[in-house]
Amino acid sequence: MKILIAEDDRTSRIMLESVLKKWGFTLVLACDGKEAWDVMQSKDAPRLAILDWQMPGINGIEVCQRIREIDTSDPPYLIVLTSKDEKKDIVKALEAGANDFISKPYDNQELRARINVGKRMVKLQFELVDAYKSLKHEAMHDPLTNIYNRRAIMELLEKEIARAKREKTGLCVGVCDLDYFKKVNDTYGHQIGDEVLIAFTRLVADKLRLNDHVGRIGGEEFLVVASGSKGLKQDVMFERICEYVCNSEISTEKGNVSITVSIGVSQYTGVENSDVLLAAADTALYHAKKIGRDSVVYADNI
Ligand code: GH3
Ligand code: MG
Ligand code: MG
Ligand code: MG
Repeated sequence: MKILIAEDDRTSRIMLESVLKKWGFTLVLACDGKEAWDVMQSKDAPRLAILDWQMPGINGIEVCQRIREIDTSDPPYLIVLTSKDEKKDIVKALEAGANDFISKPYDNQELRARINVGKRMVKLQFELVDAYKSLKHEAMHDPLTNIYNRRAIMELLEKEIARAKREKTGLCVGVCDLDYFKKVNDTYGHQIGDEVLIAFTRLVADKLRLNDHVGRIGGEEFLVVASGSKGLKQDVMFERICEYVCNSEISTEKGNVSITVSIGVSQYTGVENSDVLLAAADTALYHAKKIGRDSVVYADNI
């Protein structure tokens, strides 16, 4: 584990360095508060810092305050080292954002124990942040295909509608439904059906542009939210998806599987809400199925 030692007194710094090295820590050294502040702002900054209170320029307490002003989900553990040991000083250090306080002269065993507490806290915090990230990912993604789930793509649609309204840009939604998908399951089994669903999302992803998004809104139904240029009437990207899916063979352990997709597209004209857009795209999809599937139908062309 990497630790920052910020101490202006050369002898104290060398003593701290040698004892912490002996305990197996990797060290970054700073001779004053400015150096310490620079180190703590850098990429891969140490997760634990021992800051001397009295240093020229920026003192240890100010370094604590500056570090705590950084907006982060993963703040470092800060130990302030000082010869001050009155209650009001301890309070001041803790209020500045220090996690702990060690009085000089310190006892090596106490120092080690306090650093170990910090190490445990850093590890715990890392695990919490990690767990939070995976929970957040799980809450927003479909477990089979790992694309956005219904809730996430609907939230994204709401945001894109607000943006299109604000910035007066174009926005299309396409509801994609795999054709005769039940037959894929009946012919090859549910497991292969699942693989085909995953492969389909990869094919769609190949054709999406930077500001397009896809989510799974039902079993074999997907929603594409495409933010485009102003005045965009029909988005050729949907035809590209349709053609690409039709022309691709999906290789599975039971042989190559061919599928087609029908897509209903509706366009935002500055007034529609998400329900209206989806209903129009659904109606267009229904027409695409009626005229023989494997096609794209635009709601304004019905
Ligand atoms: P259409 O062209 O009219 O859309 O025909 P279809 O067979 O695709 O439509 P239908 O609604 O009759 O059947 C959809 C099928 O999708 C039935 C269901 O078993 C299958 N399905 C839904 N979710 C999953 C899934 O997660 N995995 C697999 N393998 N199949 C799924
Ligand atoms: Mg000092
Ligand atoms: Mg369906
Ligand atoms: Mg279907």
